[in-house]
Amino acid sequence: GDDKTSADYYFDSYSHFDFLLIQEMLKDVVRTKTYQNVIYKNSFLFKDKVVLDVGAGTGILSLFCAKVGAKHVYAVECSSMADMAQQIVMQNGFSNVISVLKGKIEEIELPVSEVDIIISEWMGYFLLYENMLNTVLYARDKWLVRGGVIFPDKAALYLTAIEDADYKEDKIEFWNNVYGFDMSCIRKLSISEPLVDVVERNQIVTDCQLLKTMDICNMDSGDVSFTAPFKLVAERDDYIHALVAYFDVSFTKCHKLMGFSTGPKSRATHWKQTVLYLEDVVSICKGEVLTGSMSVSPNKKNPRDVDIILKYSMNGRHCQLSRTQHYRMR
Ligand code: SAH
Repeated sequence: GDDKTSADYYFDSYSHFDFLLIQEMLKDVVRTKTYQNVIYKNSFLFKDKVVLDVGAGTGILSLFCAKVGAKHVYAVECSSMADMAQQIVMQNGFSNVISVLKGKIEEIELPVSEVDIIISEWMGYFLLYENMLNTVLYARDKWLVRGGVIFPDKAALYLTAIEDADYKEDKIEFWNNVYGFDMSCIRKLSISEPLVDVVERNQIVTDCQLLKTMDICNMDSGDVSFTAPFKLVAERDDYIHALVAYFDVSFTKCHKLMGFSTGPKSRATHWKQTVLYLEDVVSICKGEVLTGSMSVSPNKKNPRDVDIILKYSMNGRHCQLSRTQHYRMR
């Protein structure tokens, strides 16, 4: 039904042991190797420190920290994967260093009043889907010692534009004529759902624009809602069918800056990219500009969903238009 969203099955989906999803994340080497490198290559940051792992899953990040000499790691996990994490910690001989705590960050009690480090892999599709960033900010405000470090500590959201005629035709315009019948009411719904998929680098028509940066150490929870302007400059004559959003994260407190990007020009990750189809096909000439703004906010009823309002306009040689579209990640 219309009201059933991620909020209803989010915690459940993990307790059904979505092995494939968990495996997909672990096998995402861009993701997991970056965290491992951050920890192993900066062991001086972790040695003798008290660490909080927010949303520990299998406990993998806690194990990395324990391995390089953290004094103690609190691995908090709300799903029943916590029971597995507990066993994994034991089987690998880290029971004295890692305490697995089963529960929501917002509800559990830690046996200590402060931690030196918070580590978490909280990023969702479109960075903000599932809204776990607020859980990290909650933990930061409650337990992180003054001057403590958060891994990662920076995130940024970007926007670009692509040519995608074939796919748009196949998936969206399909509804205009189904065996001779007009089902365009479904088209309207389907275009309002951003699509998580891999974009080929040769589809990119414009430059990329930084939309929003997030400073995890200093931002407040309200900053996950924002409106950002954009100006995308065409790099060739082409048609634009969709805008594409992606993010990167950085660990700036490392000896040397580390991080990864989920952009279409980087090695693919399980986050892929987020594609927002446009009502119009925009004909753009090299050097012309598609301007607009994007507003992002957690859905009021289901804060794990994301509402996106896209405004765009174009005043070019072959195309003049102006439009507002509403999307919802669910
Ligand atoms: N750290 C693991 C898992 C990351 S997935 C890894 O890197 O592989 C995020 C995890 O956070 C999920 O297992 C989810 O159940 C957990 N989680 C989400 N919100 C939470 C909350 N409020 N409190 C505790 N755990 C949470």
